[in-house]
Amino acid sequence: MIDLRSDTLTQPTEEMRKAMYRAEVGDDARTNNNSQGEDPTVRALEELASKYTGKEDALFCNSGTMANYIGLVTMCKREDKILLSKNSHIFRSELALFIEDLYGLVPVFYEEDSYGNPNANSIEKILETEDIKVICIENTNNFHGGTCLSEVCVNKIYAVAKKSTVPIYLDGARIFNASVALDLPVKDLCSPVDAMMFCLSKGLGAPVGSVLCGSTEFIKKARSTRKLLGGAMRQAGIIAAAGIVALQNPETDILKDHQNAQQLAKKIKSNSFISVDHESVQTNIVKILITKEQYSAQSIEKDLAERGLRVKAIDNNILRMTVYRGINELQIRKAATIFNEYINEISPA
Ligand SMILES: *Cc1c(COP(=O)(O)O)cnc(C)c1O
Repeated sequence: MIDLRSDTLTQPTEEMRKAMYRAEVGDDARTNNNSQGEDPTVRALEELASKYTGKEDALFCNSGTMANYIGLVTMCKREDKILLSKNSHIFRSELALFIEDLYGLVPVFYEEDSYGNPNANSIEKILETEDIKVICIENTNNFHGGTCLSEVCVNKIYAVAKKSTVPIYLDGARIFNASVALDLPVKDLCSPVDAMMFCLSKGLGAPVGSVLCGSTEFIKKARSTRKLLGGAMRQAGIIAAAGIVALQNPETDILKDHQNAQQLAKKIKSNSFISVDHESVQTNIVKILITKEQYSAQSIEKDLAERGLRVKAIDNNILRMTVYRGINELQIRKAATIFNEYINEISPA
């Protein structure tokens, strides 16, 4: 079985497992005089994350979803309006934020182009009329196929946000993929944002965890929010140790993933049934549009799984294939063959 459902499928390396075995640990849910957790390995990971993102401090969280919840709940209160994209992971998958009986935030949507680049004019207009608490952006953009927000795009949003003194929150689950694709340090891509998170458990390949980053004051508050939500973990250094290994020169593996995604996109044959969105293949994700209504992405997903290829339907007419460490060139070739043979079978000659 070739499994391209997500880059969350990475298996920890031998080196990660060894680091986990050896990790020095403490009770991370307890804080010292500097309001930092008592687990030295978690602390080392948080310091490394601060260094990469250029933020003052960082907080280890059990998942990306939890990091986003903690970040936004720390920045907002019930009934506050947050400005984001309808296609963002936060709006599509982190619904507790917008459920009235849970966090009770109110979503307001900006316009974006077909690659997920937010329209700065649209943001500016909304900021003139609505009382917005925070602007959310996503880099890379998951739903749009791992597309990157350029530095120019982020700076335009920053200029507009700054005029209205509204903070920016970055869902940077795959910011390291954007950094490699754009050939820019992660820090440069994050410098205009006030707070952000990135995932250790996707392309970076660690088994568990995400890191929320921001100012010292923000992280101090976020640490309390994490505790309230039940997200404080005790000897979490066991898992943070793998995260530290994941952050040692991650660029080589990520670049390989991007090259493999390009190969996969090239080998898939577009026809009257399906089309590969080549422009969107900027990182490790290949997005395929189903152009005939009689086939849903869900039914194709099911058929392909029976043929030994797992992919993910992310909409009725969109399939996603994600490349990650552990998927090699041979598997890329096989995946393309399985896919092309299947499409040939179902499309009339
Ligand atoms: C995966 C993902 C998340 C959530 O991360 P989990 O660790 O799966 O909870 C948030 N935002 C984006 C853009 C993602 O791709």
